[in-house]
Amino acid sequence: METPQAIRGTQDIFGAEAEAFARVVETFERVRKLYRFRRAEMPVFEKTAVFSRSLGETTDVVSKEMYSFLDRGDESLTLRPEFTAGIARAYLTNGWQQHAPLKLATHGPLFRYERPQKGRYRQFHQLDAEIIGAAEPQSDVELLVMADQLLKELGISDGVTLQLNTLGDAPSREAWRLALIDYFQSHRAELSEDSQDRLERNPLRILDSKDPRDKPFTADAPKIDDFLSGEAQDFFGKVCAGLDAAGVEWTRAPALVRGLDYYRHTAFEFVTDRLGAQGTVLGGGRYDGLIETLGGAHTPAVGWAAGIERLAMLVADAGAVPADTLDVMIALENDEAFAFAMAKLAELRRKGFTADIVATGSPKKRFDKAAKAGATHLASINLIDGDLRVNLRGANVDESQTQSIHAILAPGL
Ligand code: ATP
Ligand code: MG
Repeated sequence: METPQAIRGTQDIFGAEAEAFARVVETFERVRKLYRFRRAEMPVFEKTAVFSRSLGETTDVVSKEMYSFLDRGDESLTLRPEFTAGIARAYLTNGWQQHAPLKLATHGPLFRYERPQKGRYRQFHQLDAEIIGAAEPQSDVELLVMADQLLKELGISDGVTLQLNTLGDAPSREAWRLALIDYFQSHRAELSEDSQDRLERNPLRILDSKDPRDKPFTADAPKIDDFLSGEAQDFFGKVCAGLDAAGVEWTRAPALVRGLDYYRHTAFEFVTDRLGAQGTVLGGGRYDGLIETLGGAHTPAVGWAAGIERLAMLVADAGAVPADTLDVMIALENDEAFAFAMAKLAELRRKGFTADIVATGSPKKRFDKAAKAGATHLASINLIDGDLRVNLRGANVDESQTQSIHAILAPGL
């Protein structure tokens, strides 16, 4: 019978890659606690309107990438393509306003119908951090310092740069938008089809185009700096000064825009040169307008999301996943000592030692097999003339660890 294949663009992750993936999540969990971000869990699917209203109908995500379907009750549902909209919905429907400013962290799977390639999947995973109900640039800075620390603790910050931009407040962004339309109109015929289409709908997104035909024009396009209001300039100045004070390196990227409509002020990406076209490992910014699109009161907010697969690739490439340690390997050389060996194995593990046992196959071969496991201690358990014998050998280990293990395995000796 033919085995059904996995869905295109999904991954089964195992081995070193899975270890790197787990390390990314564990490090995020540790770092977010240092910054006092609270954990939240949201559903993997939402009513389609949660995403279509907040992301904007003209974005790639909504127009081309969503997994939407009618459920058995004829309701249109969508597998979440990103976290922020669902978090904003949860914030409103649960009355989380009472906790504002609310620092939230989550992680999990997301779904986008994209062209699968290295670093780009249809089910992928993100780390996500948001501060909701905070208008001050201090929050933008806090999120960026946290992102910077995360990459450093993962051991992958070399070759990763923080690219920073501002999209200004609503009036600045609108003036810039009009200037971009003017400019791109005059090059219309030379732009990619997608960008010609964006010209009417969402001209900022042309700057975000990955099509080489658009690149020459995006470089010379009008810059936001010429349209920033005094207030927007002041806000951005405080973000830059905060990063400098905290020792976070950054570069200005005047053409950086975020793919989604709801961004204002700060926009940023951490980009590496080591993952080819899929070099953005973490991106985010301020989205002061989003909560209103979901029917809430004006609520300033800022956040970021990072692709776990892309981070894990960097972690694996950097060899930054420590090899598994195995403190004790037991070779059970006589089956009559099975119960004794099981008791010792359980005790070792309860006391915090990594331990395993070879207790199957020909008894004569078990010792050699156990010796190959690369444990720091090798214990053979035998029964000779009715007496239990434990033989413990340690290789290059600290004496006190050996003594503790010895005390468990052979307390009388
Ligand atoms: P891109 O420009 O690469 O399409 P994006 O702007 O769509 O990215 P965001 O929505 O900002 O990405 O998501 C944040 C991060 O999530 C990205 O920087 C990336 O690391 C990761 N990511 C986004 N889409 C995918 C995907 N299809 N597969 C794997 N990781 C992804
Ligand atoms: Mg995308």
